[in-house]
Amino acid sequence: MFTQSNRTVVVVGAQWGDEGKGKLVDVLAERADWVVRYQGGANAGHTVDLGEHSFVLHQIPSGILHQGVRCAIGNGVVLDPETLFTEIDELVADGIDVEGRLYVSDRAHLVTPYHKLLDAESSHSQSLGTTGRGIGPAYEDKIARRGIRVLDLRDPARLRELVTRNAERANAQLAAFGTTKRADADHIYELLGRLSDRLLPLADDVGLMVYRAQKNGAAVLLEGAQGSLLDVDHGTYPFVTSSSTTSGGAATGVGIPPTSIDAVLGVVKAYTTRVGTGPLPTEMDEPMGERVRALGNEFGATTGRPRRCGGFDAVVVRYATRVNGLTDVAVTKLDVLDTLDRIAVCTGYEYDGDLHTEFPGDITTVDKVTPRYEWLEGWLKPTGGARRLEDLPSAARAYVDRLQELIETRITYVSVGTRRDQIIGL
Ligand code: GDP
Repeated sequence: MFTQSNRTVVVVGAQWGDEGKGKLVDVLAERADWVVRYQGGANAGHTVDLGEHSFVLHQIPSGILHQGVRCAIGNGVVLDPETLFTEIDELVADGIDVEGRLYVSDRAHLVTPYHKLLDAESSHSQSLGTTGRGIGPAYEDKIARRGIRVLDLRDPARLRELVTRNAERANAQLAAFGTTKRADADHIYELLGRLSDRLLPLADDVGLMVYRAQKNGAAVLLEGAQGSLLDVDHGTYPFVTSSSTTSGGAATGVGIPPTSIDAVLGVVKAYTTRVGTGPLPTEMDEPMGERVRALGNEFGATTGRPRRCGGFDAVVVRYATRVNGLTDVAVTKLDVLDTLDRIAVCTGYEYDGDLHTEFPGDITTVDKVTPRYEWLEGWLKPTGGARRLEDLPSAARAYVDRLQELIETRITYVSVGTRRDQIIGL
């Protein structure tokens, strides 16, 4: 992805998340100088399998696993400082050097204990199937212009005022939910004060740092969390996350010019999954769904929740191609389909007596559609050892070719296993 002219590259999920972005970022980070997370929070989980050891990263960019790569958490992220330090400590315990190469935007908003309480106790959050990590309430505060940013930790008087006001507000909301749980402003103020000793040394103007790096010709990778169909504007609203997961969010979430983005890599599974509630047009009936879930180990990295499984949906990926301006696509988990004798790919949606190939904005329409499937031959051979396109069984190659045709975008990578080396770069 990085060439003389492609210096800033965004990696986005082009389905409902969990596409394997962590693995692609890890692979691409080998050639990167900077890796920056631009949205989401500790609700995301990227799994990177290095063979001898597997890492699950929630807030720190996957690039941290490469020595010499600088990593940053952008202003578009809502940062949970407590879990950030747990993550840093675990990496250090595993021999990963984090010191001096991890930065946090001082404009990023903080997730505090009252956000988690609100998320856990709210029936609205429960109906949306959130992870309960306080992400939605923290973004609510940000948009309502009452949030606490990392830079507020530099001013104890201001911090105390913000915490007191916000805890009071949260407690009124908790009372309205009918729960007896309450946020303790003094406790939260003390906690943030303690955490700031470790957090403030990492805090900086990340937008400026990355901009300067770009000017000096650095290779910059911008890493998204979740997927395009969970984007607050472009996803299956209201069953979405609270941030801009698509490539437009990368510019605002890091603080760099949109015009400085040279390429956008969309990561898609060779099939489709979704965690939580909300529409999934190609959802497989049981026992097929269960079989793919087991083959693909489709359980959430953050919550362990089973993921719903479906066939590849070309309508969804073509839509994601458009809203992200994808220049390239990486297809992951091809190996998961190795034992299926035939594979369904959705090429369009039937509703109101017509065939539609554009993704509808209204989820009641999405709920009504009948996917039109094309059946492709399975290959019934292991693909995990393939390192070149020519190594793939011909039916697997035909499958990849057909996906490329349907999504009208170049497939640049095919991933055939969890390990770093199990990838075909085309
Ligand atoms: P992310 O949030 O998009 O990074 O995705 P997750 O980490 O939640 O889920 C991806 C999972 O799929 C991880 O457990 C990866 O190790 C695994 N994975 C990634 N690529 C492949 C692949 O090509 N084949 C298989 N079998 N697993 C993969």
